[in-house]
Amino acid sequence: MTPTHEYSEKLWQEALQHFPGGVNSPVRAFRGVGGTPFFTQRAKGSRLWDVDGNEYIDYVGSWGPMILGHAHPQVVRAVQEAARDGTSFGTPNPREIRLAQLVREAFPSMQKIRFVNSGTEATMSAIRLARGFTKRDKILKFEGCYHGHADALLVKAGSGGATFDVPDSAGVPADFARNTLTLPLNDFAALDTVNWREIACAIIEPIPANMGLIPLKPGFLEKLRKVTQDNGALLILDEVISGFRVARGGAQELFGIQADLTTLGKIIGGGLPVGAFGGRADVMDLLAPTGPVYQAGTLSGNPLAMGAGIATLEELSHSGAYEKLERRAASLGDEWKKIVKGHSVRIGSLFCTFFTDCEVVDYASAKTSDTKRYAKFFHAMLNRGVYLAPSQFEVGFLSLAHTETDIEETLRAAAEAVGKL
Ligand SMILES: *Cc1c(COP(=O)(O)O)cnc(C)c1O
Repeated sequence: MTPTHEYSEKLWQEALQHFPGGVNSPVRAFRGVGGTPFFTQRAKGSRLWDVDGNEYIDYVGSWGPMILGHAHPQVVRAVQEAARDGTSFGTPNPREIRLAQLVREAFPSMQKIRFVNSGTEATMSAIRLARGFTKRDKILKFEGCYHGHADALLVKAGSGGATFDVPDSAGVPADFARNTLTLPLNDFAALDTVNWREIACAIIEPIPANMGLIPLKPGFLEKLRKVTQDNGALLILDEVISGFRVARGGAQELFGIQADLTTLGKIIGGGLPVGAFGGRADVMDLLAPTGPVYQAGTLSGNPLAMGAGIATLEELSHSGAYEKLERRAASLGDEWKKIVKGHSVRIGSLFCTFFTDCEVVDYASAKTSDTKRYAKFFHAMLNRGVYLAPSQFEVGFLSLAHTETDIEETLRAAAEAVGKL
């Protein structure tokens, strides 16, 4: 029996009148898989309920933040408590300090930090700062890595760009894009072709998760660290997804590498709009008001957002949180790989299956995926109450709220869905 979506259909027709493409962020529109998106009424733990009363096991997790699951009692309480004291002050507030402590304990490379309102703001500001510090204009990024939607970073970006096959955005002046060099991921030789003395910074997702999931080859990040350091360029590790996800201290803890600047978002806001960037004190002190690099935000350090972040990071600091997440993820991932086949990848609680026989090592090989087959699989899963990312080029997110029962149900659905392909 296929679930009905009458009310979602009705709202969708209305949304199309209000919003370009019916949405406020492109991947939500289901363009990568076809069909009409469902409207969520509420969420709790591992589950979402749509406005027609259908229930889904959720593997999108608001695209990364919901590592504790939805509406976690401590997070809800923290937001309620903060709201009672006022929603925004425009002065310093004590919650900023607590969240900074929690982040800096996990990321020793972040000697100083600044909170912003999204991952995009974090990367955009970190790049301005790197340019201000090095007095160089050119930046380097990697094909298929997504760092938010700032002009300079919408060059060969992943995520929505990968889904829509729009490598560059209209409206980005060629003069901006000219200062953004891109290299293929995992290509050691390509790193030697760069004139590093003119590069302000290299930015990379240390666990690339915006063109599906593509692990870096051993030694790639190390080489990038060395070549930037040797030439006075800064290394920005964009841990907006991987921070507090693959380990408490993100990929930097996992790989034992230190960034000059780190960008965070998603989990550190516990589902509220938060981003952060931070790193070497000598670099960070160039920010206004101490230095000449301007950066500001009316709602930055917002008490509700800080409260949700604090509650989330405190929950994650309970012993065994990451071990539990890994156990759950392994029990899903091992069976999933056998059932769904394709090219399946899992790093901790992130997972992805490329519908291709190719070895996926970069953007070009990711694009060999059979996206029509993925779309069929996606809808077969959705009809069975499992919500996966509505695009081949996004990852699955497992949370601490997913139970063994959720995983069994998911695997049963996957076996049936694969049978329908
Ligand atoms: C999501 C994401 C961003 C952008 O964050 P927003 O909060 O959506 O602006 C930046 N970098 C990476 C790696 C991301 O996954």
